[in-house]
Amino acid sequence: MYNRKFFLLIVIMLAIQLLLGGCSLQPSYSYEKAENGIIDLTKLQFENDIAKLDGQWEYYPNQLLEPGEIDSGSINGYIAVPGTWNKYTTKEGFSSGDGYATYRMTLITDETKRLALKIPRIFTAYKLWVNGELIASAGTVDKTRDTMIPQYLPQVAFFEAKDSNEIVVQVSNFYHRSGGILESIHIGGEKQILSLRYQNIASDALLFGCLIFIGAYHLALFLFRKKNTSALYFGLFCILVGTRTLLVGECFFIYLFPDFSWEIAHKIMTLTFYLGVPLIMMFFLSVFPKYFHVRMIKLAQIIAAAFVILIILTPAKIFTQVNPFYQIWTGIIIIYLIAVLIKISIHKEKDSWLIIVGASVFILSSINDIIFLSIWMNDNGPEFLKTIIRTGNLSSLGQFVFTFTNSLLLARKFSNSLDQEEIMTAKLIKMNANLDKIVFDRTEVLVEANKKIQQQKLELEEANMQLQKLSLKDPLTQLWNRRKYDEIIRLEWHRCLRLKTPIALIIIDIDQFKGYNDYYGHLAGDECLRNIGQSISTTLSDSDGMVARYGGEEFTAILPETRRAEAVEIAYMLRKKIESLHIPHEKSTVSKYVTVSAGVTFTIPNINSSHENLFKAADKALYQAKAAGRNRIEFLDEQTFNFTEKTNKEG
Ligand code: GH3
Ligand code: MG
Ligand code: MG
Repeated sequence: MYNRKFFLLIVIMLAIQLLLGGCSLQPSYSYEKAENGIIDLTKLQFENDIAKLDGQWEYYPNQLLEPGEIDSGSINGYIAVPGTWNKYTTKEGFSSGDGYATYRMTLITDETKRLALKIPRIFTAYKLWVNGELIASAGTVDKTRDTMIPQYLPQVAFFEAKDSNEIVVQVSNFYHRSGGILESIHIGGEKQILSLRYQNIASDALLFGCLIFIGAYHLALFLFRKKNTSALYFGLFCILVGTRTLLVGECFFIYLFPDFSWEIAHKIMTLTFYLGVPLIMMFFLSVFPKYFHVRMIKLAQIIAAAFVILIILTPAKIFTQVNPFYQIWTGIIIIYLIAVLIKISIHKEKDSWLIIVGASVFILSSINDIIFLSIWMNDNGPEFLKTIIRTGNLSSLGQFVFTFTNSLLLARKFSNSLDQEEIMTAKLIKMNANLDKIVFDRTEVLVEANKKIQQQKLELEEANMQLQKLSLKDPLTQLWNRRKYDEIIRLEWHRCLRLKTPIALIIIDIDQFKGYNDYYGHLAGDECLRNIGQSISTTLSDSDGMVARYGGEEFTAILPETRRAEAVEIAYMLRKKIESLHIPHEKSTVSKYVTVSAGVTFTIPNINSSHENLFKAADKALYQAKAAGRNRIEFLDEQTFNFTEKTNKEG
């Protein structure tokens, strides 16, 4: 990660180096200054050196004099070049850029070859003579606003040098807030000056091309993806800066269109600056929405809108007056931007270092230009600042570095999201491929689970049946219990009713069992109950009868298709069998052993009767057996017990 950053930084440095490439070829500068209108450059070797015609020029305000018309005796003052004439023109003391004047300088040199002058923008029209010959001009110089025509036309002009050369410049201005020669005129050998000029034009054209290309590219990105507003703001910003590059510095645009209106060109140039400020804020807001205050951006938009309206509606003479205010406002914005960028870098936002490097170059170069272009600086600025800040269009380059780093940032963002997309796609493909297997596996698991559930269901049913059985069996004797008796008696009763076959019922009760319990204990009582139960069930196992433990020490036997004689016979057999078990019973008053009494009954069911009545008859028979002395069998049939009688009536 760190290595990549380092690599990118080197790329940026190389780009800057490439654009500044001219620097290494640039000739050495001389800092000789003119005094009292005379500059002595005899020390210079024009093969290598370039000088500036800075210093005191002879100054003839409110006069447009041609070389022959100047009388050396009539010098009435000097003016500092570069600088505005604003404070020189009016004797009343308030400054104004309007007016016209003639500048003159004597250049001493021992060269006798062709030399070149690199003439900057002069505010806002001029004519330049060397040794009486008119070698350069821009616009039309005249004494009124209506008759003069302003033009920015930086250019190179040549002349045959002599020992002493007279340079005369006529300047007029009624269009810009400041007038005069605001930038330095360079002098040097033909080759040096031309290469300086070509380098400047080449770098301007290169910057213009790069910026327009980057701008168009980002606008296209925005068109393809409307959500990407940062590309829109950034693209527009690049186009603005690119346009500005052609209008400042070497003013390449004026070379392409020499007759283009100075006013409109100036308006466009100013607009690029004024619109650039809110645009760059909007760009930052869209890239780092967390860090920028929407209110601040709104304010920048409103202020820019107000100034833009002013530029469109008023001539340069008026709107250039407000330029310092917008420069102050830009200064505030720059401070704000620096503060936010520091905040972002503290938070170590991803890739923010790119923007910070770019923005720093941009901000520094903008400060340079603002100072350079300010009138205050031109007129009153301290000398050391003037020597540091010698060029006024550094910000184009700064803006380019900024643009480049921002493009890198956007490119990083795009490629990051593309990477993300690739990873996601790969994941999706893998998932898709696995899906069949996953579905298959899951289905198998489901089938397996289903099988298990079926198995468990069967087991559960089995357990349920077991449980049901258990709840129908008497745990002590393993005979059917009362519930099963109720179920079977109902079924058998209805079956016999349907088939009109007889049904018999025996109730067996152990004699004096309470006494047995009391004497032998409950555990012995239980053992006795078990033995008697087993005896009854083995005795009846072969017949169709069903034996149940009705409750306590009472047992019942349901005997379908059994008549009186047979039923009595079975009861008798059961009583005998139990008696023959010879279970000792000390407390019995009827025998030495445990005995039972039984009540027997039988009937052929009819719809007026019920199995409850059958039971009652047997119970009554049992009661009679007990009453008759126990260890015996009693029988009750239809004759003695009315089966059709209702239970409650029977009492
Ligand atoms: P009777 O000859 O008149 O039938 O006299 P009995 O003592 O047998 O009659 P009763 O109904 O007064 O007593 C029934 C006794 O049966 C009472 C109780 O102690 C005993 N008994 C009932 N169920 C059980 C049981 O599950 N285990 C044991 N050990 N005793 C039981
Ligand atoms: Mg009893
Ligand atoms: Mg009993």
